[in-house]
Amino acid sequence: IPAGAALTARQITEIDAGHIWHPYGAFPPSTPSLVVESASGTRLRLADGRELVDGMGSWWAAIHGYRHPVLDDAARAQLDRMSHVMFGGLTHEPAARLAQLLTDVTPDGLEQVFFADSGSVSVEVAMKMAIQYWRSKGRPGKHRLLTWRGGYHGDTMGPMSVCDPDGGMHSMWSDVLPRQIFAPTPPRDYDPDYVLNLELLLSAQADETAAVIVEPLVQGAGGMRFHDPRYLQALRDACDRHGVLLIFDEIATGFGRTGRMFAADHADVRPDIMCVGKALTGGYMTLAATLCTAELGRAISAGEAGGLMHGPTFMANPLACAVGAASLELLVSRDWETEVADLEDGLTAGLAPAWDLPNVVDVRVLGGIGVIELDAPVDMVSATDAAVAAGGWLRPFRTLIYAMPPYISTPDDLATVTGAMVAAAASQAQGGSPG
Ligand code: PLP
Repeated sequence: IPAGAALTARQITEIDAGHIWHPYGAFPPSTPSLVVESASGTRLRLADGRELVDGMGSWWAAIHGYRHPVLDDAARAQLDRMSHVMFGGLTHEPAARLAQLLTDVTPDGLEQVFFADSGSVSVEVAMKMAIQYWRSKGRPGKHRLLTWRGGYHGDTMGPMSVCDPDGGMHSMWSDVLPRQIFAPTPPRDYDPDYVLNLELLLSAQADETAAVIVEPLVQGAGGMRFHDPRYLQALRDACDRHGVLLIFDEIATGFGRTGRMFAADHADVRPDIMCVGKALTGGYMTLAATLCTAELGRAISAGEAGGLMHGPTFMANPLACAVGAASLELLVSRDWETEVADLEDGLTAGLAPAWDLPNVVDVRVLGGIGVIELDAPVDMVSATDAAVAAGGWLRPFRTLIYAMPPYISTPDDLATVTGAMVAAAASQAQGGSPG
């Protein structure tokens, strides 16, 4: 390819299929990936001229839609100053601005911000914070994590160890990962017996347990399950009683997706450590963060290492921090609560026809998250084809067809997205039709 020459869609497809790993992908890929030429607002424009309404928000991230002028301007302005500079011994305005905004919007008491470069790394850092905290306190035996089954926390070794070990996407790794402690998946509705048993487990394991880590309110990639917020309060109380830290992984749920700024806010609970990512930069840049209390910050710093032993090359990337700050300022300046409430209404109305399909076992909506659960695993190719034919971009997995559209989605956008979800579900029914 001559330097600087544009690639044709065919060349992109050939190079992609020959050389590039996609998420959880294989060589050769079972189907070629669609080539996206550009994206703006809620629309993806494909190289073949088709336009799709994005139901995925780029995996929970693009809350303001694509090419938002405020975020574009923030990126350009920062590019004119510096795109990156090392964070060891140096600091800068974008990091300071974003850290201040984050400590303002997260639950009171989360004061220290570690900028990580992906959600998985922010979970690694959360786990290390918890373990280092107890080492500093002279309790090195407290190094395990307790979580509930059905969760998903990322793809690197630490987070994989707290994903669902039975049937979860990383269960093949179970025998080589750190041995963690698992409680059953919480039922959707509040069950006092479940809470009692969880506390019994926690009290029995407290000597070895550094922290409980959970996805609050919504278990995402582990099954798109929702649960009663009172479990979060129960966890907080149990952790306090048994001397265990509490980590909330808000990477998917954070920044308004569930109808509150954070899922923790539904229960008015403050975890000791919180992970955020995905929508942190409005889906523009790869950035995540791990926040912790000042007490943890002090205790870790007083320990044997004299600080937190993590420091990635691209820590607090200025470009990402500038866009993150602009995204957060944009979010709080808008009536995002009404936008998400409208998403909830639009998803609920648009998905209602799915109940009539013979292969649908559940339809559930929470904030800007809509889920159709089928009675059998989807064939991803035919389900995606059906969605694309209906004008929507979706990425079904296992038995789930789900969406988390940008907050700026119009009623028409939502009608297309939910229509695509119902079409995808229908395509999987015996004798169903993709359209
Ligand atoms: N935690 C949760 C709850 C997630 O949903 C995800 C990603 O889907 C992650 C962690 C991992 O984030 P990343 O893909 O940015 O590494």
